[in-house]
Amino acid sequence: MDSQIRKIHQQLMNKEISCVALVQSKLNSLEQNTHNTVNSLLSDKALELAAKVDAKIENGETIGLLEGIPFGIKDVYMVQGTYTTASSNLLKNYKSPYTATAIQKLLDAGAIPVVKENCDSFGHGSSSENTIFGAVKNAKNPELVGGGSSGGSAVNVAKDFTVFSIGGDTGGSIRQPAGYNGVYGLKPTYGRISRYGLMAYASSTDCVGPIAKSIEDIRILLNIMSGIDTKDQTTYQSEKIEADSIKTSDSIKTVGYFKNFVESEAIDPRVKSDFLTVIDKIKAKGISVKPLDFFESNTLVSTYYTLAMAETASNLSRLDGTNYGNRIEAENLKETYAVTRSENFSEETKRRIVGGNQVLSQGFSDEIYLKGLNLRDQISENFEKDFDQVDIILSPVTPSYPPKIGDSLKDPLAMYLSDAYTVGFSLGQLPTLTVPQGTPTGVQITASKNNDELVLKFANFLKDTI
Ligand code: GLN
Repeated sequence: MDSQIRKIHQQLMNKEISCVALVQSKLNSLEQNTHNTVNSLLSDKALELAAKVDAKIENGETIGLLEGIPFGIKDVYMVQGTYTTASSNLLKNYKSPYTATAIQKLLDAGAIPVVKENCDSFGHGSSSENTIFGAVKNAKNPELVGGGSSGGSAVNVAKDFTVFSIGGDTGGSIRQPAGYNGVYGLKPTYGRISRYGLMAYASSTDCVGPIAKSIEDIRILLNIMSGIDTKDQTTYQSEKIEADSIKTSDSIKTVGYFKNFVESEAIDPRVKSDFLTVIDKIKAKGISVKPLDFFESNTLVSTYYTLAMAETASNLSRLDGTNYGNRIEAENLKETYAVTRSENFSEETKRRIVGGNQVLSQGFSDEIYLKGLNLRDQISENFEKDFDQVDIILSPVTPSYPPKIGDSLKDPLAMYLSDAYTVGFSLGQLPTLTVPQGTPTGVQITASKNNDELVLKFANFLKDTI
């Protein structure tokens, strides 16, 4: 699909639609939707901003490319004055006192936020069922999950309720729901976009990223949100990616894929055969394809969950009902903390806090946490060696189809294992894009660190190849 942003920009400039009518129609479809994608609508502010865009156009002023474009925000981003609930009971009434850097950059460019979107609470999940706002339903089949944790964001884009949405990806939360709902979703290189104002899940892999219907829209949004931010010391300066530079993919000579992902017992036969067909089509274009060795899925998943749980236990310790969160008073302060947290965190979030504190506690941390860190280093080294031999690594996004609503809640371990193909790239902090082609849940394109441009180039090549 072509750029939705450019198309709508032209329609606004040509006065084929008014910005108020556009924003109102998005608000209406969001309000009426039955997929549970909405945590709160930002109607008043959005309509006020839209009226200003219309006035500018009426005055004959030119507007920027993003000006007046309605978008959605996963409900884990601070946007000053809006409810920011992380889909949790604990923060049900919490309002952001400031705005996240990435979102501020979009606001500065004139984009109009219309909705805070449903997701797994604090990003904990792969199905968007771990939420107080009701399970997000898949855009293609509402009996299935929307994927997670950025499920509401992916479904909104797929259903055209938003033009694009900003998700958050710690271990796959942009890429997997993008795959489940048939849209593009990018996890950029870690540090390319500031995390300031994104509620922390696992700080060492948390990434801000766009979900959209075209590669061009992903490129536009990535450029706007990228850059150094003094409020996030892991950010770095990146080059702008030009539209023309991603049109040709001549520089891509070798593509790798992980043998064990495709040979795994867990992979659905259709995902496997579709993926191998993609590989054949790439070979037919004269690109050499190299099967690569990689860590077993179980190792990837357990390393990721060990570190992610440790980090989230630490990050969420501040939510005790004092500075943040719905406080439940009890007999004394300690009891107040305990009751506030026990009553207000979900089962899944508590499982992770308990697991994370165990991993970090004396007597266990050497055995478990340090081992996790060590494995993570080995995984990163493995990637470095791979990228000496190949330009791109291609993989399925998920081993199987989206589960039925209700199934993941019954079997958390199966849910963790369904992240097998996404978490490794997160541990490596690599740029990875889901494209909605190839297998029923898409394919993932990964390049070496800071090579986000190459990912987009290859996406354009795949669009015309498969
Ligand atoms: N499903 C993974 C988890 O629950 C990834 C979530 C995410 O990226 N926020 O940890």
